[in-house]
Amino acid sequence: MIQLIDIEVEHTIEEYATDTVLRDSVRAMQNTVTDDVAALDGRTVWMVNSTASGGGVAEMMPKLVGLLRALGVETQWAVIDVDEPVFFEFTKEIHNLLHGAGDPELVDHERSVYEATSRSVADELEDRIDPDDVLVVHDPQPLAAGAMVADGLDVPAVWRCHIGSEERSEKSRTAWEFLRPWIVDYDRTVFTLPAYVPAFLETEADIIPPAIDPFSAKNRRLKPQEAATVLARADLIDTGHPVERFDQPARRLQADGTFASATDPEDIGLLFRPTICQISRWDGLKGFVPLLRGFAELKRDARSAVDASAATNGGDDSAEAGRSDAHRRRIDDARLLLVGPDPSSVADDPEGREALENLEEEWLALDPEIRSDIAVVVMPPDQHDSALVINALQRCSSVVAQNSLQEGFGLTVTEAMWKRAVLMGSDTGGIGAQITDGKNGRLVPDSSDPASVAHTLDDVLGSPERWDDWSYNAQRHVTDNYLVFEQVTRWLDTLGEVVE
Ligand code: UDP
Repeated sequence: MIQLIDIEVEHTIEEYATDTVLRDSVRAMQNTVTDDVAALDGRTVWMVNSTASGGGVAEMMPKLVGLLRALGVETQWAVIDVDEPVFFEFTKEIHNLLHGAGDPELVDHERSVYEATSRSVADELEDRIDPDDVLVVHDPQPLAAGAMVADGLDVPAVWRCHIGSEERSEKSRTAWEFLRPWIVDYDRTVFTLPAYVPAFLETEADIIPPAIDPFSAKNRRLKPQEAATVLARADLIDTGHPVERFDQPARRLQADGTFASATDPEDIGLLFRPTICQISRWDGLKGFVPLLRGFAELKRDARSAVDASAATNGGDDSAEAGRSDAHRRRIDDARLLLVGPDPSSVADDPEGREALENLEEEWLALDPEIRSDIAVVVMPPDQHDSALVINALQRCSSVVAQNSLQEGFGLTVTEAMWKRAVLMGSDTGGIGAQITDGKNGRLVPDSSDPASVAHTLDDVLGSPERWDDWSYNAQRHVTDNYLVFEQVTRWLDTLGEVVE
């Protein structure tokens, strides 16, 4: 019922501190946490969640556990190992209700399976946990089990909710009402953003946003030639030189509806053209379709303006009058890259499959001239290869877009800001918390409206003199707020407080 997960520490604190951009953040963490680390002396912090792989929580956990240990806090990571499909169906329903979807009638049988399973998990946890320890439980799956342990052993306990939803409806209320009796057994709760805290927890919640590891494959520094090599290995650029391809490179949607080599029917021009790139799961809420439509609209507008101005013999009474030659050329040369996971990852995800099919239809319906400026690309299926491709694409794109219609936090935005990309994001959820319009990127006022996307993109492509400022501020913002060092500092603040 409980599995202890081994973690591999890839980098020591001193290794992080040798990086000149990171040094201040690392030292600030070390200096800030000493009292909290002392308060936790002799106790083990137990991180409990429901999976050891897949998803943001599992990706972050080894970094968090590794750093806590390196700072001198005894930490264990336990995953609940439940072989009961009804349990996970039920917690998935709760998750959906919190986002305003699904049937608000909770089935009694499922509810009792959740409770009975949680009891067994709690029994096993109680055998391992000491009353002096600290329990940190992530998300609704182990919530009830953790509450039973907190209640039974009187151990200090924190519930970390990674669900980011501003939804306030009958459905979300039903879910919160179900969770509430368990949540109240915890000493504190932790949420990603203030907007996600339900009213009944307002005074008991701490805010800890997600964070990135600057040394991970997805975020580590890549020299220009390394980034170019990664793109070549993924078959995303055509080179006449010897390159060792990934076993399974990226693939690109073709006019006949199949996926083939990403350099077919011709090289995309990634390193040489103004490239706008969005990387996300295939999900309707990620806003791929309005981004594609907005890009197409901008291209058409720029072309028709050029034609109109040619017709009036270079007169300046067209929309074109506002654009410099360089701006016009930039729009004309621009390419849009829409990237997501390999379709095998959506094989058992009907919504993901539908979102990808939807996008394919949109792309196929474009006129061929515009279509050739937009590439729909699927990642190499290997996780490590795809992490490197994300890294290289974010570094090599002129603009990184995240046009989500809804977004919990938006780690893709954090990752790109860290790399000093020029960001164009939608003004929703965590993206609005990360991008300050005109300071460290641009926000699309209405990401569901292609005209709004086209207008903002036009502005971005027309303001190259601002790019350096935005991208510098973007990296600064991530360094100050969303690196794993800041996250650990905030965690120790919360943990120090609950043991006092
Ligand atoms: N990502 C990935 N492969 C993909 C698309 C996205 O590994 O094909 C990563 C992306 O780099 C980010 C995470 O998945 O680290 C997505 O997190 P985000 O908060 O942006 O959105 P979510 O998918 O959690 O809604």
